[in-house]
Amino acid sequence: MMSRTMTEARLPRRVDATKLVENNQQLNANIDTKLLTRIVDATECADVPVEVQLEFRRDEENNRTVIGNCRTHVIMVCQRCLGTVGFDISSQFNIGLVFSDEQAKHLPKRLEPVEMDENGQLDLWEVVEDEILLNLPEFPMHPEGECRMYKSESDNEPEADVKKENPFDVLAKLKQKQ
Ligand SMILES: [Zn+2]
Repeated sequence: MMSRTMTEARLPRRVDATKLVENNQQLNANIDTKLLTRIVDATECADVPVEVQLEFRRDEENNRTVIGNCRTHVIMVCQRCLGTVGFDISSQFNIGLVFSDEQAKHLPKRLEPVEMDENGQLDLWEVVEDEILLNLPEFPMHPEGECRMYKSESDNEPEADVKKENPFDVLAKLKQKQ
């Protein structure tokens, strides 16, 4: 039987976050990116699974926290040449779990507030999807040396586009005028 590593596991969507915090639970798992529709809509192609590592725990001030990171690879459309360009997207986050806006206001600045429902349930896919979306480039573009548009601009020197008049033609025209 093949050994199944933790990173091959699917990340559960809805979890009891309060319970995971009390258990100091760690999760290493993937999400099928095709199921994250906001990422699918925001990109040209997103078929590399999002790898997610999460650790649920109380911090020293007794806040419920999720410390984690996620990463994936997406294909977007270059805003300069309209060709496709790939990006490695990753995010690290320190989340403070809260039940209300009021509780969120009291979190220390180092924690990004995320609201659970009244039963302590949390949609982990939504959390990860938000993190990836926040890290997508606003204006996706190839690096300058790799962009088709950039290359065609530098290959065609401006002078090359201007038709140089053949000096003999110029002479011919002058003769015609005489
Ligand atoms: Zn480009």
